[in-house]
Amino acid sequence: MEKVYIGVDVGGMSIKAGVVNLNGEILFKDKVVTDGQHVDVFLGDIKNLLEKIIKEAKDKDLDVRGIGFGVPGMVDNRLGLINKMANIGGRNVPLKEYLKDLNLPIYLSNDANVAALAEQKFGIAKGMENVILLTLGTGIGGGLILNGKLYEGNEGKGAELGHVCLILNGRNCGCGRKGCLESYASASALLRMTREYMKKYKDSMMWEYCNNDINNVSGLTSFECAKKGDEAANKLIDEYVMYLGEGMLDFANIFRPEAFVIGGGISNQGEYLTEKLEKYCKAQNWGYEGAPESKVLIAKLRNDAGIIGAASLLMD
Ligand SMILES: [Zn+2]
Repeated sequence: MEKVYIGVDVGGMSIKAGVVNLNGEILFKDKVVTDGQHVDVFLGDIKNLLEKIIKEAKDKDLDVRGIGFGVPGMVDNRLGLINKMANIGGRNVPLKEYLKDLNLPIYLSNDANVAALAEQKFGIAKGMENVILLTLGTGIGGGLILNGKLYEGNEGKGAELGHVCLILNGRNCGCGRKGCLESYASASALLRMTREYMKKYKDSMMWEYCNNDINNVSGLTSFECAKKGDEAANKLIDEYVMYLGEGMLDFANIFRPEAFVIGGGISNQGEYLTEKLEKYCKAQNWGYEGAPESKVLIAKLRNDAGIIGAASLLMD
């Protein structure tokens, strides 16, 4: 019987789960749309989905060895709790306890940690010993692989790389502090900056790109207009790269990773973004004169990273 692990990618709106083998291949997967507002419904949906998948795995003669979860929020793996998660009303949801009848080892981790593990075990950073993953979405998620292992810190609440202070007394951040990297380099921050630049530069091509309606601003507005040579958009992108680059230089000085892996919506810009980041960081000597350079890579496993990474939590 082939050994497999179940990886669960938990979201506020849907829960995806897949059966993953030791090569990081998803053999099959399933998902359920969930009402994220009610804890009982949410837990019931997870359990039903897992029971269905475990049955299918048995029918296919697969040996399920454990279940890993990637959760967009705070978890406590030791106590088996989801401490808090966007869209889920409850606090300290006892996920492990609720699933104890399944009789399988369960591991809970944060979604960005899980994505970092997926990319380092089976993705773009395969085989690298020291890797930093940054997901640039609504917020900034961070994942650390140090000396070949996922680093989760005390209670598994580590690697909140988006919440390091970039600007003293800067913009308010959702975490309660001010001036966090997330407030300057997330996709949401880029949208805010795009609107600010448009208000300042009335003749920018960005207005035309948005049909002269600032409500049409998207993550593409600034990048697409910068590529077409719009001066304001290029200035904006340079500023954005500076914020993100400065954050990366701080992480480079602390961890000296072989690579940064960029994920999330903004990573769709691919080499256009990574080349600018590499150029910026290189001009700053990667944080310290004589320091080795880090590679800047785009995450490869995309939407499957959650399932593959979660399943990987129990593989070693
Ligand atoms: Zn913050």
